[in-house]
Amino acid sequence: MTARWWAVILAAGAWLLAPGDVRGRPGLSAGRVSGAAAAVSEGPARMPDENRRHPCLYATSEEIARARDRARKYDWAKAVYDGIIASADQALNGTVAVPSKGGQWTHYYSCPKHGVRLRTEAPTRHVCPYGWEVYSGWPYDDVVVSFTHHRYTSQLQDLGLAYALTGAPRYAQRARDIFLAYAEKYPRYRIHDVKGGDARSGGKRFAQTLDEAVDLVRVAWAYDLIFNTVSSPERERIEKDFLRPSVEVISRNPMGKSNWQSWHNAGIAAVGFCLGDEAMIHAALDDSENGFRYQMQASVLSDGSWYEGAPSYHFYALSALVYTAEAAARSGIKLHEDPRYKALFDGPLSLVYPDLTFPALNDADRFSLGGQERLYEAAYARFGDGRYAAVIDRGNRQSIEALLWGAESIPADATLRLESVNLDGLGCAILRDDTGPDGRYLLLDYGPHGGGHGHPEKLQILLYGLGQELAPDAGRLAYSVPLHRTWYRQTLAHNTIVVDGKSQAPTEGKLVLFHRDAGFRAVRAVATEAYEGVTLDRTVVMTPGYILDVYRARSERPRTYDWVYHNAGRVRYDGEAPAVSAPLSQENGYQHLGELRRAEVAGMWRAVWEVEGGQVRLTAADGCGAAEVFLADAPGQPPTTRMPLVICRRKGEGAVFVSVIELTRQGRRVQSAALKGWVGRPGAKGLSVEVVTGDGADTFWIADDAAAGSTQIVYVPAGGKKRTAP
Ligand SMILES: [Zn+2]
Ligand SMILES: [Zn+2]
Repeated sequence: MTARWWAVILAAGAWLLAPGDVRGRPGLSAGRVSGAAAAVSEGPARMPDENRRHPCLYATSEEIARARDRARKYDWAKAVYDGIIASADQALNGTVAVPSKGGQWTHYYSCPKHGVRLRTEAPTRHVCPYGWEVYSGWPYDDVVVSFTHHRYTSQLQDLGLAYALTGAPRYAQRARDIFLAYAEKYPRYRIHDVKGGDARSGGKRFAQTLDEAVDLVRVAWAYDLIFNTVSSPERERIEKDFLRPSVEVISRNPMGKSNWQSWHNAGIAAVGFCLGDEAMIHAALDDSENGFRYQMQASVLSDGSWYEGAPSYHFYALSALVYTAEAAARSGIKLHEDPRYKALFDGPLSLVYPDLTFPALNDADRFSLGGQERLYEAAYARFGDGRYAAVIDRGNRQSIEALLWGAESIPADATLRLESVNLDGLGCAILRDDTGPDGRYLLLDYGPHGGGHGHPEKLQILLYGLGQELAPDAGRLAYSVPLHRTWYRQTLAHNTIVVDGKSQAPTEGKLVLFHRDAGFRAVRAVATEAYEGVTLDRTVVMTPGYILDVYRARSERPRTYDWVYHNAGRVRYDGEAPAVSAPLSQENGYQHLGELRRAEVAGMWRAVWEVEGGQVRLTAADGCGAAEVFLADAPGQPPTTRMPLVICRRKGEGAVFVSVIELTRQGRRVQSAALKGWVGRPGAKGLSVEVVTGDGADTFWIADDAAAGSTQIVYVPAGGKKRTAP
């Protein structure tokens, strides 16, 4: 399990294990610290001194004793305990052969052509499991060196824990051998970056200070766990030639507000608290432009989201913050009392799909909240929040954090209520109509770009329903794969409008309406800087029977507007759509469209996706003017699959796209949809839309000019009472 949760941390940010592995990666397990109260952090804050008692870093002797006791009392704890011992026993095999050089960036370990992860057949033979290309030499061989370093880090942790739990000297002896091997080799490792140069971002064991720091957390922990068995001269070598120089390598590269620096802080704090080095601790916690406290103030948005806007990076950064806070807590420094720290656990609980997976916003992968269990074990132990208990798999608490930090027991009746919500920091409004697994979920993304990991996808929508993700964000690939940039980071890969065939500028939109009441939920947002001289204005209404999407674009001169909608499954177009051979364009993602077909439409048109257990029926309303409709497919997730999409193209000094999306397991209710024109109401002009279902005609009036201040929506369901928002 050590190796397992670590693999997931790596997967979250630094390394993409298997692009497209949708359900929970074998997880970070969750842990918690000690019944709802933080028993370990009582007492006045004090800096640890050099003579402190070990272990002290992430588990005290009392916590180790409690873990031993738990393993006797509970099956789940015994399984974690046995797993640690089994891994440590394996680590005793063979000889210690630490690499004589540092490793390379694991993002290189994907087929450049297919974007899938390579398979290591030999240290110099790396095979694409999809196209069977064979790669060899730099950087692939060097990535395998990184794998070896990671393996030694895992072994160190397993051995350290096994020694602490059992007291058997053989585990400590082996860990000491590995430490001494690194003490000998580390000074000779060359600083190297991901390009093979010696940039400030480069590390020694790894090609990035980020990765150097991530591993250092566990290395320092292992040292803390076996500290009492190491002789003074050996300590001096390990500390002087391996641990302290690792901190020096990381400290060369201050990164300010970032997940990188959060890991730097975690690595430096781990060594600092372990060695009782006040300067290191101070740097990791208090540096005014880099430290933990600065990250909390600079990187946590108002809704508890990490500023990069990608769920993967949220948890990647949160892992670093948890290790920093937990180490500090054991020295009486209560970083976890900052309310923003707790908010980081709360924010994601609003964003999840009904199946508790996350959409792949920005540079993120699909992954499961369940995979973040070990962090919620830590949080539940600190804060006792019942929602956190609901995230923890109560029968299967397979994490070191659960064993060492977690609550003695988790209430069986904990539940997580999912509601419609506007996440105003992340800039995502989420409409939900049911908290059950079959509920619909629609996200409108209007918020900040998301820094270096943001995608140009303002006003995109994501849709979940029928128990599955329907209209996705395609997410990301390993960063070295060209397709990551040429498709996944293009506006065309998202469910929004592309203007003149070009991707949007990085920008932030603005929410102008968010409304939720029974049976009528709506959100509206505008973006005025995605394209110069263009206002994008999107309103989405969720009614019990369908979703109405009204997307307006306005410009002063004629532009080409492509309304784009991707949906999983097999698409069927009702009408003639002959194949087109020439690509629509050679750039901005259009070059990746396949199976291209084209139709000319004057009025209503329809596309239907067959998905598992049902249909997604898209009805594009009559009255929006002539258009070209393109049907195509494009790279999916994983990139060896294809995902169908439709593009509706209109040209002019503006365009309006009115669509009705109906999710159905059987039958259908929506018969037709029409834009009935622009109708005035006191103080405003608006679009009048009619949707005819088996029950009659529903009518909508949507104020036309959100930028001018009116955002009202009037909804009159067939045979029902008029309702307005706001
Ligand atoms: Zn390949
Ligand atoms: Zn994206």
